[in-house]
Amino acid sequence: MTDSYFHEGDLVGVLTAQPLDRLLDYKAPEGGCHLGAFVEVPLGPRKVLGVVWGAGKGDYDRSKIRSVIRVLDVAPMRDEMRVFLTRAADYTLTPLHAMLRLATRAPGLGDAQSMRKVYRLADGVPDRMTDAREKVLAVLRDYGGLSFTLGELAEMAGVGTSVVKGLVKHGAVREEEAPRDTPYPRLDPDCGGKELSADQAAGAEALRDALRSDKYGTTLLKGVTGSGKTEVYLEAVAECLRMGRQALVLLPEIALSGEFINRVEARFGMKPAEWHSGVTMTERRRCWRMVGQGDAQMVVGARSALFLPFQNLGLVVVDEEHDTSYKQEDGVLYNARDMTVLRAAINGAQVVLASATPSLESWANVEAGKYQRLELKSRFGASVLPKMSAIDMRAEDLPGGKWVSPTLRGAIAQRLEKGEQSLVFLNRRGYAPVTICRACGHQIACDQCDARMVEHRFLKRLMCHQCGETKPMPTVCPHCEAEDRLSAVGPGVERMGEEVAELFPDARIAVLSSDLYGSARAMKAHIEEIAQGGTDIIIGTQLVAKGHNFPKLTLVGVIDADLGLQGSDLRAAERTFQLMRQVAGRAGRAEAPGEAMLQTYQPEHAVIRSILAGDEEAFWAAEAAERKAAGVPPYGRMAGIVLSSPNVQEVFDLGAEMARRDEPLRRIGAQVFGPAPAPIARVRGRHRVRLLVKAEKTAPLQQALAQWAGQFRLPNNLRLTIDIDPQSF
Ligand code: ADP
Ligand code: ZN
Repeated sequence: MTDSYFHEGDLVGVLTAQPLDRLLDYKAPEGGCHLGAFVEVPLGPRKVLGVVWGAGKGDYDRSKIRSVIRVLDVAPMRDEMRVFLTRAADYTLTPLHAMLRLATRAPGLGDAQSMRKVYRLADGVPDRMTDAREKVLAVLRDYGGLSFTLGELAEMAGVGTSVVKGLVKHGAVREEEAPRDTPYPRLDPDCGGKELSADQAAGAEALRDALRSDKYGTTLLKGVTGSGKTEVYLEAVAECLRMGRQALVLLPEIALSGEFINRVEARFGMKPAEWHSGVTMTERRRCWRMVGQGDAQMVVGARSALFLPFQNLGLVVVDEEHDTSYKQEDGVLYNARDMTVLRAAINGAQVVLASATPSLESWANVEAGKYQRLELKSRFGASVLPKMSAIDMRAEDLPGGKWVSPTLRGAIAQRLEKGEQSLVFLNRRGYAPVTICRACGHQIACDQCDARMVEHRFLKRLMCHQCGETKPMPTVCPHCEAEDRLSAVGPGVERMGEEVAELFPDARIAVLSSDLYGSARAMKAHIEEIAQGGTDIIIGTQLVAKGHNFPKLTLVGVIDADLGLQGSDLRAAERTFQLMRQVAGRAGRAEAPGEAMLQTYQPEHAVIRSILAGDEEAFWAAEAAERKAAGVPPYGRMAGIVLSSPNVQEVFDLGAEMARRDEPLRRIGAQVFGPAPAPIARVRGRHRVRLLVKAEKTAPLQQALAQWAGQFRLPNNLRLTIDIDPQSF
């Protein structure tokens, strides 16, 4: 901990999460404050949360400088965290205040601990609205969802406490017990360890050694699904706990199941702290505070857990490190895997990247000697890898509008006879991707986006997968007004459910797709029920490919293995390879051997062949050679610049001007491509144009981008976002 300390009246520079491009000067409050302290400061008529980021500049009239209102009762932000946020901001070209927002996502951060009751917004409407009442409600609305003590709330609204009480009586404000943060029970690193195979033991030992070095390092832990990677990295967690340091395990949101938490409990005797969208506000608040006090030894969480205020972070595991959901695609655009490595380097912590199908980025870092590599060669115990084969669809006899080939149908029938589960995989939500009018050929598209509306028959609606807009399924063509001529074209997962039900009327069938559930919780409950064996045939999207264990599943049939290979994205091959391997890996996890069948119209395609052969090294080598030749990541650097505006002319004009005035980029040898319509050219009524910038690996890309983009005046309502390391290029 730093010993920088500011005495009462000293000038401090405070960083707030408000969109300002500088620190604000305040006087340190009575009793002084530490560097890094979380504080409440006045900003105009409001009070906002901030962090003491350094000494104040004092470059304006001192008598006008106001005082910090109070220091919050939480551990000050550590130096490493401030360095991390600063570097992450620089890397992603994000303003620092936006990074701070990620780091202060604790509900009720401002609550005083000692008070017994807290107050929050409720649904009731008071009989009459007074100015004073309106002020209280405005404060609560402003802080959306947070609760405050009586004194705090009254003070913030500038009213007497009786006004708040009055609102409670009318049900417009709810009074509740202040949640007390109970400490997490201690985890015992030596309680539930399994006896490890030789491969596993060697891996665990290597990770323990790395941890004991007390230095930063990254290890790629590779091994097919079911090879026992989780057991291995839990040993690293155990060692980290023994050393008295904190451990974080990141999982893709969808894989954060009760199943995983139970495994951790079995290993360490107690449940870990959790941080993801499925935990309550109270639980989140508890997690944030305890992590900051060093009283949570282990956190299992989604990508945003990386921004928790760890006191002594020793280890971060990124499971399924290749998963695209680690990239946050709105707000601050960051890749949690890459930011993990940055944070660990600053903290002197170890990183374990676990995957059956590592990203080409990680693979290249191993090649370059930056990461250590550990490999688990076989599946744990009796289970073996599924047998992979292609079904050549050109040779199958299949009527139009049907997608399950006779070969696949026969294989499913066999499983039904044996009482085993099958998975029919199609990575497409909804009933049908296209709805077309048979009279005039019109395809129903979203009004706001450049995208077709997808029929969702369960919901009886059409949905835009870009903006989420839905509308009732029309019976009349919106274009030619012909009646009852609209028809579904192409398969979606719901339609596959129908086809499979016709083929196997007696089978128990479940369709698994994210939009069929009201909540992540409901979905996980259903998945767990299926895992228990209550279903014969699972029809699913990408959702089922991730992290779930289906012990009775022995057959995976991929309806359209070619789907991901369409389009021009340079990552298409990598994605398809990973997804197909992962889906196939669902089969045969327990005693019964598994089989995966890929329906394809191009069985001789290089990617399909390498999937079938299971020769990963060859695949990665070929893929690497291609990317090297093209000078794209991981062998070069890219950035995507998206301009969006309701005015199509403006985005193209600015795009063209940016492409023309590219001196700052040319100076570092970077090239600009575009402007071109973005992969989705219109979203929510905004036209989108994209420029791609490509640079050499070592070029100072961020600086040049900032300089370049800084040259242009943006018309009102035109948004410019820079995406470093875009997912598609
Ligand atoms: P991965 O993380 O590579 O997918 P897991 O660690 O989940 O693999 O292991 C697959 C299955 O094998 C799990 O059910 C796990 O409990 C079991 N398993 C793995 N290692 C051992 C071990 N050493 N002893 C007993 N069971 C194990
Ligand atoms: Zn739309």
